Amino acid sequence: MAVIPNLKPATLLAHGGRRPEDDGGDVSPPIHPSTNYARGEDYGLIKAETSYSRDANPAYPPVENLLARLEGGADAMLLASGMAAVAAVIQALRPGDHIVAQKVMYWGVRAWLTGFCADWGLDLDLIDTADPAALAGAVKPGRTKLVWIETPCNPTWDLADIAAAAGIAHGAGAYLAVDSTVATPVHTRPIEHGADIVMHSATKSLNGHGDAVAGVLVTAKADDFWDRVRANRALGGAVLGPFETWLLHRGLRSLHLRVERASANALAIARHFEGHAKLASVLYPGLEKHPGHDIARKQMQGGFGSMLSFCVKGGAAEAMTVAGRCQLVVRATSLGGTESLIEHRASTEGGNTPVPANLLRLAIGIEDAGDLIADLEQALAGI
Ligand SMILES: *Cc1c(COP(=O)(O)O)cnc(C)c1O
Repeated sequence: MAVIPNLKPATLLAHGGRRPEDDGGDVSPPIHPSTNYARGEDYGLIKAETSYSRDANPAYPPVENLLARLEGGADAMLLASGMAAVAAVIQALRPGDHIVAQKVMYWGVRAWLTGFCADWGLDLDLIDTADPAALAGAVKPGRTKLVWIETPCNPTWDLADIAAAAGIAHGAGAYLAVDSTVATPVHTRPIEHGADIVMHSATKSLNGHGDAVAGVLVTAKADDFWDRVRANRALGGAVLGPFETWLLHRGLRSLHLRVERASANALAIARHFEGHAKLASVLYPGLEKHPGHDIARKQMQGGFGSMLSFCVKGGAAEAMTVAGRCQLVVRATSLGGTESLIEHRASTEGGNTPVPANLLRLAIGIEDAGDLIADLEQALAGI
């Protein structure tokens, strides 16, 4: 694929970012289960630049190059999970470094970050990064090494302005990392807005079929910090297995179509249920009333993502009744699959969650929008 410049993302993805000629003629990507790779008589590696599968798998480069190209980055890395990708970045910092991160975001990242920073002597401030003034007040020039944002963020789908956050982070001498799992490279390319590192839970839309746990990092520049992150994968050992790599590569080939369809479905559902008699609010950045709508229009193209939340009139009991009455939408966690899911987020996150008890998180799939609307209508009729 390297020979044709300026191919559009849909084209790059459909071909899995590779040419059959590049590796032996397989039209579909091959799988490489071997853990080690032999040397020839001259002691040079016969197959690839890798000798051992914890450093890299021969199936990584086409996927990593594809992701780097989609995000407009210098390099990309596959990791064992989204959380492993987060950990590889945070563990490249040093004790005493200051991190500013978002208060409202994917709970697993917030929980791990809070515990890890306390245990390992990193100074963490959690703020509302949707408010640039709060971010500007939180960074400590010279001491802040990383600003971490998720946009749109779980489960309110509020937007952080990536360009504004990058300006503030860089002004303080810090990197900006963006968890872009929900936006996907189809809708947002954070590096174009100034981000230094992009992270994805590839478990979600990138793989897209709910059958592989995987993580991705993309960097704007291949610098010393990136080398430290890479060492965390190779020596820390959070590598993606050969079979998961193959599943991710297969899923990526339909990413563009899936994301376009799921986002169109989510917008249709959000518009249909906005102002519904049984709902206190519908949270979706594609709605004009959503507080992040203007930023979303600025930094998302082709759609606003597949995630939305319903806040039902009532509390946890009413929310549970609605979830319980769904017949098509599946009651399960996660997102970015082909089938739509509904989740009572406060029970998933437990004890000290900031998520309201009446909130239901919807991860929209690629079904017929009318079928989804009918199922949700009949579910809401039960309260
Ligand atoms: C799922 C998710 C993660 C964690 O990724 P895993 O692949 O489950 O480790 C991080 N951020 C967001 C936004 C997610 O949805």
